[in-house]
Amino acid sequence: MGKVIAIFNQKGGVGKTTTNVNLSACLAVKGKKILVIDIDPQGNTSSGLGIDKNSLPTSMYDLIIGNADISQCIYETNRENLSIVPSSVQLAGAEIELTDLEGREMRLKQAIQDVKHAYDYIFVDCPPSLGLLTINSLTAVDSVLIPIQCEYYALEGVSQLMNTIELVKKNLNPSLDIQGVVLSMFDGRTNLSIQVVDEVKKYFKGKVYTTLIPRNVRLAEAPSYGLSIIEYDAKSKGAEAYSELAEEFLDLEEDVI
Ligand code: ADP
Ligand code: MG
Repeated sequence: MGKVIAIFNQKGGVGKTTTNVNLSACLAVKGKKILVIDIDPQGNTSSGLGIDKNSLPTSMYDLIIGNADISQCIYETNRENLSIVPSSVQLAGAEIELTDLEGREMRLKQAIQDVKHAYDYIFVDCPPSLGLLTINSLTAVDSVLIPIQCEYYALEGVSQLMNTIELVKKNLNPSLDIQGVVLSMFDGRTNLSIQVVDEVKKYFKGKVYTTLIPRNVRLAEAPSYGLSIIEYDAKSKGAEAYSELAEEFLDLEEDVI
């Protein structure tokens, strides 16, 4: 049975989508069968993996509203082991439409039930908000992977993030776990980055990956070509870091089993 993981932080611009695209691509190359679910109406994960969001007959919107079955919403990304349920602009409206639908917090969970067995990992890219799409994600997953940007106020918003996780645990998903915390946009030349790493490690005791994702311009360029970093520039620092993170992710997973 595949493990379902949300990439979650209600702050925007912290590296959720970059981590989703590149960790998924690295795990796929290592032979893991991956499904990426893009539940962010901005659809950056979809375009980052080269999917033309505007030409699709079905998308995440149809899935969550109940217009389509999940098998109709999964697309290949032209990479081995990596499939996607893409987002679309319509998804922005789903937040309101969901309010009146039955089981509005459970719809993603129900939708993925039938395909969990077909993947090793399913990654859900959350929007930067705490609305129903995010609640659906947190309800559907086994664990959350939290990217945190190495910047001033890195921990700002983290208590709200933890409160949200606690609330979902209490009311909708008692076994929700923290998969790990990824520090992104690390710059080893600055004291600030080093301080942030210390602070975050203190806060999330034992949950922070040793691998740090550096600030690397190649990571920011790759999505405009619809490529993951290992396809765009396999020798870049960014590619090295995400490959290492995939390695560490899998090592820790094996320790658990
Ligand atoms: P989120 O999904 O949390 O909003 P993104 O992954 O989209 O965050 O990242 C925000 C912006 O920062 C994007 O333009 C992305 O390309 C860029 N970015 C993300 N991680 C890095 C990094 N390690 N180095 C340089 N740029 C990055
Ligand atoms: Mg994003």
